[in-house]
Amino acid sequence: MNNANGAAFVCVLVLLISSSTSTESSGSNVDTEHTRLALEEPLESLELTITIDDVPITIDEELNHGKTQPRLSRLEITQSIIASLKSHSVPAVYAFSYGEPATRDPNAMEILQLWVGSGNFLGNHTFSHKDLAVTTAEAYIADIERMDLFLNTLGTTSPPLKVFRYPFLKEGENGEKRNKVRDYLASKGYRIAQVTVDYLDWAWTEAYMRCAATGDDHRLRWLRESVVKAARRHVRRSQKLAKRVLGRDIKHILLLHFSAFNAFTLPEVLSALKADGVKFVDLQTAMSDPVYRTNPDHPIPDGRTFLGQLVEMNHIADPYQEQVYTEEKLSEICKK
Ligand SMILES: [Zn+2]
Repeated sequence: MNNANGAAFVCVLVLLISSSTSTESSGSNVDTEHTRLALEEPLESLELTITIDDVPITIDEELNHGKTQPRLSRLEITQSIIASLKSHSVPAVYAFSYGEPATRDPNAMEILQLWVGSGNFLGNHTFSHKDLAVTTAEAYIADIERMDLFLNTLGTTSPPLKVFRYPFLKEGENGEKRNKVRDYLASKGYRIAQVTVDYLDWAWTEAYMRCAATGDDHRLRWLRESVVKAARRHVRRSQKLAKRVLGRDIKHILLLHFSAFNAFTLPEVLSALKADGVKFVDLQTAMSDPVYRTNPDHPIPDGRTFLGQLVEMNHIADPYQEQVYTEEKLSEICKK
C-alpha cells in the first residue's frame, strides 16, 4: 500500500468509526476509539465524594410535570439510592435539597426524613431552586435564608458541614453579585460544595426517560452500560484536568441528581468506579483539600464545575473534553 492509498484507507476507517458513533447513540454496543483509549488509561488512586442534587424532586421533573421518573415512585427512588450507597459502603452522602416542593407535596417531607434518617445529610440548594443569573443577589440570599430555616425544621442533628450548592452551578454573572452571595454564605458559616466530576447525569436522565417510554429493555441495558463507561471516563478526565490546572490531583466531588435513572444505574456505576480504584470518601474529607479554599474569582453567566472555572480563570486549554456522550449526542438517544 503506498502512502496515498494508506491515507485513503485511514479516511475510510475514520468514516466507519464516525458512523459507528451515530449507530451507538441509537443503541448498539459499538465503542469508539476515543472510548477504548480513555478507559484503558490507568486511574491513579483517587478520592471521590458523591453528592446528589434536587432531593426531593428534580427540577427537570418539575419542568416536565413529573415525566422524568418512569417506573418508580420518588419514595422508591430514595430507598433504592440509599440501598445502593449502603451496599457499596459509601460514607454518608450530602443531598442538596430545596424545600419548595414540601410546601405542597407531603411525600416530599417523607423523602427528606427518610434521607436524613438513613444517616445521610442535607445541604442548602436555595428554597426554590433559584437561578442566580435571573435573580438579584438580595432575593437569592433571602431564598438561601428561607432554606436554612426549613432545614432547621427537619429536627435533625446538625450535619458535620454547613454546605451550599449553587443551583445550575451558577455563581453569578458579575463580580458584585457573585461577591455579595459569597460574602453572605461565609458570614453564615456556609462553605460552597463545588463539583469536579459531572457526567451529565441529567441529560442521561432525559435519554433514559425516552428509552423507558419505548418499553425496550435492550435499549435500557445499553444505556446503563454506556453511562458506566461515561462515568469512568469522566473520572479520568477530571484527574487529568486537575493535574493540568493545579499541578496535582485533588479530592474530587461528583454531581448526581435525584432520579429514577440514578436508581437504575448507580449500583453499576459505583461497582465500576470501585473496581477502577476509586475510594469513596465523605464530603468533609473531600473538602479538607486546600484547593476548595480557592475562590475562582471569575464571574460567568452560565454554570461551570470548579475545574471548569479554574480552566477559564487561568486561560488554560482543556484537551479532555467529552467527545462521546456530549449533551448534543445524548439528546439524540432513543429519539423516534
Ligand atoms: Zn439543582
